[in-house]
Amino acid sequence: MRSKKTKLAIIIPCYNEELVVKSTVETLLKVMDEIVKKGKISKDSYIYLIDDGSKDTTWQIIEELHKIYGSKVKGTKFIRNYGNQKALIAGLLDAKHIGCDCVISIDADLQQDENSIEKFIDEYHNGSEIVSGIRNDRKTDSFFKKYTALCFYKLMNILGVKIPPNHSDFRLVSYKGLEILEKYSEAGLFLRGFFHEIGLKTAYVHFDVKPRALGKSKFNFFSLTSLALNGITAFSIVPLRIIAVIGVLTVFGSGLLAIDVLIEKYILNNTPSGWATLVFLLAFFGGLQLFCLGIIGEYLGQIFNEVKARPRYIKEKELI
Ligand code: UDP
Ligand code: MG
Repeated sequence: MRSKKTKLAIIIPCYNEELVVKSTVETLLKVMDEIVKKGKISKDSYIYLIDDGSKDTTWQIIEELHKIYGSKVKGTKFIRNYGNQKALIAGLLDAKHIGCDCVISIDADLQQDENSIEKFIDEYHNGSEIVSGIRNDRKTDSFFKKYTALCFYKLMNILGVKIPPNHSDFRLVSYKGLEILEKYSEAGLFLRGFFHEIGLKTAYVHFDVKPRALGKSKFNFFSLTSLALNGITAFSIVPLRIIAVIGVLTVFGSGLLAIDVLIEKYILNNTPSGWATLVFLLAFFGGLQLFCLGIIGEYLGQIFNEVKARPRYIKEKELI
């Protein structure tokens, strides 16, 4: 059992969320007050908003909220849009520096059920270092997103990264988890894989997903694909091994083919015309080689990004 004086930080990545950010903060402050009243978290718990380079009035609204609620609502603004993973990492690391016992990340559109926050805290008090929110279903997702997400989690499992399906970035991380996160300096960190891999005691809380109240999803086909590719290449080198296995099998297969050609030519004296086979093999191996090069290129890209060791993000403003 942990001490009841738990200082909670709720972090919220925001990208062009002017339509929802105010009501989200107000709702979460109410939820926090209730949990404070029950004595499960301390009064100095706070909300920390990370404006991921919004082009609308999100930052002005955050400034207003900070004026009204003081240190209960803190924020930072990125100089440009870096993507939701970077905003989450910034929130987690900043909350550690500002001070907290645990952090919960939740989306600005509050699609995740804010009433589950208390359950997260209960699990934390019972000794879990990570509490992961698992969606009960994907009813609010488009057909495309639902099935591509399913394929992604299946693929990750096959590749050895056993993330539970319907996992989300709605998650509690203890101070101990944040200390470990701080030691990982890689630029392309994929949080869902990371928190699974470090192996801290984890509990799961199932929650219902609500439809987005206002505004549009900030993810599109390209940003989702990039997130998925980053998730795979940052956590598994199995695709590279598969390429090596394909290479060995191909050499073996071509050996068999060579024997067949020799038999046809010198024993059966039946020099094959073989045009169709040739065209097929040429096209097949041409495609296969490009595909394999593409996979190697993805890893090369990861190395390229990591070697440059650029800062993950640059901040423009802070309200603490
Ligand atoms: N987000 C962000 N940067 C981005 C894209 C999204 O900080 O480049 C935030 C966004 O404001 C929201 C969260 O990430 O708080 C999840 O985004 P969204 O609700 O659009 O995703 P979906 O629910 O459609 O998966
Ligand atoms: Mg959403």
